[in-house]
Amino acid sequence: MTITYQIKSAVYVNLTNRCPCACTFCLRNNGDGVGGSGSLWLEREPTLEEVKASLDSWDYARFREVVFCGYGEPTERLDVLLAAAEHLKRRDPELRIRVNTNGLCDLINGRSTAPLFKGKVDCLSISLNSDDATQYESMCRPKFGAAAYPALLKFAGEAVAFVPEVVLTVVGEPVTSLEGQARCRAIAERLGARLRVRQYEVVSR
Ligand code: SF4
Repeated sequence: MTITYQIKSAVYVNLTNRCPCACTFCLRNNGDGVGGSGSLWLEREPTLEEVKASLDSWDYARFREVVFCGYGEPTERLDVLLAAAEHLKRRDPELRIRVNTNGLCDLINGRSTAPLFKGKVDCLSISLNSDDATQYESMCRPKFGAAAYPALLKFAGEAVAFVPEVVLTVVGEPVTSLEGQARCRAIAERLGARLRVRQYEVVSR
Protein backbone atom coordinates (compact mmCIF):
# COMPACT_ATOMS: atom_id res chain seq x y z
CA MET A 1 0.00 0.00 0.00
CA THR A 2 1.57 3.33 -1.06
CA ILE A 3 1.21 5.86 1.75
CA THR A 4 4.08 8.16 0.71
CA TYR A 5 5.86 8.54 -2.59
CA GLN A 6 8.36 10.84 -4.27
CA ILE A 7 7.76 13.29 -7.10
CA LYS A 8 10.82 15.34 -7.98
CA SER A 9 12.03 17.00 -4.76
CA ALA A 10 8.89 16.43 -2.70
CA VAL A 11 7.42 13.61 -0.63
CA TYR A 12 3.73 13.13 -1.36
CA VAL A 13 1.27 11.69 1.15
CA ASN A 14 -1.69 9.52 0.18
CA LEU A 15 -4.16 9.47 3.08
CA THR A 16 -7.37 8.48 1.34
CA ASN A 17 -9.10 7.69 -1.92
CA ARG A 18 -12.30 9.40 -0.78
CA CYS A 19 -13.39 12.61 -2.46
CA PRO A 20 -16.74 14.44 -2.57
CA CYS A 21 -16.14 15.45 -6.19
CA ALA A 22 -16.13 13.54 -9.46
CA CYS A 23 -14.17 15.94 -11.66
CA THR A 24 -14.45 15.27 -15.37
CA PHE A 25 -10.66 15.74 -15.64
CA CYS A 26 -9.64 13.68 -12.58
CA LEU A 27 -6.52 11.58 -13.15
CA ARG A 28 -8.19 8.78 -11.23
CA ASN A 29 -10.62 8.27 -14.11
CA ASN A 30 -7.83 6.89 -16.27
CA GLY A 31 -5.07 5.54 -14.08
CA ASP A 32 -3.73 4.09 -10.87
CA GLY A 33 -1.11 6.65 -9.89
CA VAL A 34 1.12 9.56 -10.87
CA GLY A 35 4.67 9.53 -12.19
CA GLY A 36 6.47 6.53 -10.74
CA SER A 37 4.26 6.29 -7.65
CA GLY A 38 2.87 2.84 -8.36
CA SER A 39 -0.78 2.24 -7.56
CA LEU A 40 -2.27 4.82 -5.23
CA TRP A 41 -5.48 2.90 -4.70
CA LEU A 42 -5.54 1.99 -1.01
CA GLU A 43 -6.90 -1.37 0.16
CA ARG A 44 -7.69 0.49 3.40
CA GLU A 45 -6.90 3.93 4.79
CA PRO A 46 -3.62 4.03 6.73
CA THR A 47 -3.69 4.77 10.45
CA LEU A 48 -1.95 7.85 11.84
CA GLU A 49 0.85 5.63 13.17
CA GLU A 50 1.33 4.08 9.74
CA VAL A 51 1.40 7.54 8.15
CA LYS A 52 3.99 8.77 10.64
CA ALA A 53 6.15 5.67 10.14
CA SER A 54 5.99 6.09 6.37
CA LEU A 55 6.87 9.80 6.64
CA ASP A 56 9.77 9.00 8.97
CA SER A 57 11.27 6.60 6.43
CA TRP A 58 12.44 9.48 4.17
CA ASP A 59 15.70 11.40 4.48
CA TYR A 60 14.49 15.00 4.54
CA ALA A 61 17.93 16.36 3.78
CA ARG A 62 17.03 15.35 0.20
CA PHE A 63 13.57 16.91 0.02
CA ARG A 64 12.29 20.44 0.29
CA GLU A 65 8.59 19.77 0.73
CA VAL A 66 5.93 17.34 1.92
CA VAL A 67 2.65 17.49 0.02
CA PHE A 68 -0.62 16.05 1.29
CA CYS A 69 -2.35 15.29 -1.96
CA GLY A 70 -3.48 11.72 -2.10
CA TYR A 71 -5.37 9.92 -4.67
CA GLY A 72 -8.43 11.56 -3.20
CA GLU A 73 -9.19 14.61 -1.07
CA PRO A 74 -6.77 14.79 1.91
CA THR A 75 -9.13 16.83 4.10
CA GLU A 76 -11.46 13.83 4.15
CA ARG A 77 -9.00 12.76 6.88
CA LEU A 78 -8.46 16.16 8.43
CA ASP A 79 -7.51 14.92 11.91
CA VAL A 80 -4.87 12.54 10.54
CA LEU A 81 -3.59 15.20 8.14
CA LEU A 82 -3.16 17.79 10.90
CA ALA A 83 -1.57 15.33 13.33
CA ALA A 84 0.88 14.14 10.67
CA ALA A 85 1.74 17.73 9.73
CA GLU A 86 2.31 18.56 13.40
CA HIS A 87 4.56 15.50 13.69
CA LEU A 88 6.66 16.72 10.73
CA LYS A 89 6.87 20.27 12.08
CA ARG A 90 8.04 18.99 15.45
CA ARG A 91 10.73 16.98 13.73
CA ASP A 92 11.83 19.74 11.34
CA PRO A 93 10.20 23.20 11.62
CA GLU A 94 11.87 24.27 8.37
CA LEU A 95 10.25 21.54 6.29
CA ARG A 96 7.65 23.08 4.01
CA ILE A 97 4.22 21.47 4.18
CA ARG A 98 1.64 21.89 1.44
CA VAL A 99 -1.91 20.59 1.16
CA ASN A 100 -3.43 20.17 -2.29
CA THR A 101 -7.16 20.35 -1.76
CA ASN A 102 -10.47 20.92 -3.49
CA GLY A 103 -11.26 23.53 -0.83
CA LEU A 104 -14.39 21.78 0.42
CA CYS A 105 -12.90 21.04 3.84
CA ASP A 106 -15.64 22.91 5.74
CA LEU A 107 -18.44 21.01 4.03
CA ILE A 108 -16.65 17.68 4.40
CA ASN A 109 -16.04 18.21 8.10
CA GLY A 110 -19.21 20.14 8.93
CA ARG A 111 -17.43 23.08 10.58
CA SER A 112 -15.18 26.04 9.93
CA THR A 113 -11.71 24.53 9.53
CA ALA A 114 -9.31 27.22 8.27
CA PRO A 115 -7.95 28.11 11.77
CA LEU A 116 -6.92 24.47 12.32
CA PHE A 117 -4.17 24.75 9.70
CA LYS A 118 -2.32 27.49 11.56
CA GLY A 119 1.29 26.58 12.38
CA LYS A 120 1.01 23.19 10.71
CA VAL A 121 0.70 23.98 7.01
CA ASP A 122 2.77 26.45 4.96
CA CYS A 123 0.80 26.36 1.73
CA LEU A 124 -2.76 25.52 0.74
CA SER A 125 -3.18 24.88 -2.98
CA ILE A 126 -6.91 25.02 -3.68
CA SER A 127 -8.49 23.94 -6.97
CA LEU A 128 -10.70 26.85 -8.04
CA ASN A 129 -11.15 25.44 -11.54
CA SER A 130 -13.58 28.14 -12.71
CA ASP A 131 -14.73 31.68 -12.08
CA ASP A 132 -18.32 30.56 -12.59
CA ALA A 133 -20.28 28.54 -10.03
CA THR A 134 -22.42 26.75 -12.61
CA GLN A 135 -19.43 25.76 -14.71
CA TYR A 136 -17.58 24.64 -11.56
CA GLU A 137 -20.47 22.40 -10.62
CA SER A 138 -20.63 20.76 -14.04
CA MET A 139 -16.83 20.24 -14.15
CA CYS A 140 -16.32 19.02 -10.58
CA ARG A 141 -19.69 17.42 -9.86
CA PRO A 142 -19.45 17.90 -6.06
CA LYS A 143 -21.87 15.88 -3.97
CA PHE A 144 -22.67 19.13 -2.13
CA GLY A 145 -24.16 20.63 -5.31
CA ALA A 146 -24.54 24.40 -5.42
CA ALA A 147 -23.22 24.78 -1.87
CA ALA A 148 -19.73 23.74 -2.95
CA TYR A 149 -18.42 26.75 -4.88
CA PRO A 150 -19.32 29.41 -2.27
CA ALA A 151 -17.93 27.14 0.46
CA LEU A 152 -14.65 26.85 -1.47
CA LEU A 153 -14.39 30.65 -1.74
CA LYS A 154 -15.24 31.10 1.95
CA PHE A 155 -12.61 28.56 3.02
CA ALA A 156 -9.95 30.16 0.80
CA GLY A 157 -10.76 33.63 2.05
CA GLU A 158 -10.58 32.56 5.68
CA ALA A 159 -7.40 30.50 5.18
CA VAL A 160 -5.27 33.50 4.22
CA ALA A 161 -5.38 34.60 7.87
CA PHE A 162 -3.91 31.29 9.08
CA VAL A 163 -1.71 29.88 6.29
CA PRO A 164 1.27 31.83 4.90
CA GLU A 165 0.60 30.94 1.26
CA VAL A 166 -2.84 30.31 -0.21
CA VAL A 167 -2.87 29.56 -3.93
CA LEU A 168 -5.95 29.05 -6.09
CA THR A 169 -5.40 26.98 -9.23
CA VAL A 170 -7.02 26.61 -12.65
CA VAL A 171 -6.09 24.52 -15.65
CA GLY A 172 -4.68 26.64 -18.49
CA GLU A 173 -5.81 26.85 -22.10
CA PRO A 174 -7.73 25.34 -23.76
CA VAL A 175 -9.66 24.36 -20.61
CA THR A 176 -9.66 27.90 -19.19
CA SER A 177 -9.45 30.80 -21.65
CA LEU A 178 -7.14 33.74 -21.00
CA GLU A 179 -10.21 35.79 -20.11
CA GLY A 180 -11.36 33.11 -17.69
CA GLN A 181 -7.90 32.99 -16.14
CA ALA A 182 -8.02 36.77 -15.65
CA ARG A 183 -11.39 36.47 -13.89
CA CYS A 184 -10.00 33.68 -11.67
CA ARG A 185 -6.96 35.84 -10.87
CA ALA A 186 -9.27 38.66 -9.82
CA ILE A 187 -11.16 36.27 -7.51
CA ALA A 188 -7.90 35.04 -5.97
CA GLU A 189 -6.62 38.56 -5.43
CA ARG A 190 -9.92 39.66 -3.92
CA LEU A 191 -9.54 36.86 -1.37
CA GLY A 192 -5.92 37.77 -0.62
CA ALA A 193 -4.56 34.70 -2.40
CA ARG A 194 -2.71 34.28 -5.70
CA LEU A 195 -3.59 32.31 -8.81
CA ARG A 196 -1.51 29.53 -10.33
CA VAL A 197 -2.36 28.29 -13.81
CA ARG A 198 -1.73 24.55 -14.06
CA GLN A 199 -0.41 23.05 -17.30
CA TYR A 200 -3.17 21.56 -19.44
CA GLU A 201 -1.35 18.18 -19.44
CA VAL A 202 -1.16 18.15 -15.65
CA VAL A 203 -4.86 17.92 -14.98
CA SER A 204 -4.76 16.62 -11.42
CA ARG A 205 -4.32 19.10 -8.65
S1 SF4 B 1 -9.48 16.00 -9.33
FE1 SF4 B 1 -9.27 16.06 -7.11
S2 SF4 B 1 -11.22 16.98 -6.39
FE2 SF4 B 1 -11.56 16.26 -8.47
S3 SF4 B 1 -12.41 14.16 -8.24
FE3 SF4 B 1 -10.18 13.99 -8.52
S4 SF4 B 1 -9.38 13.89 -6.44
FE4 SF4 B 1 -11.44 14.74 -6.29
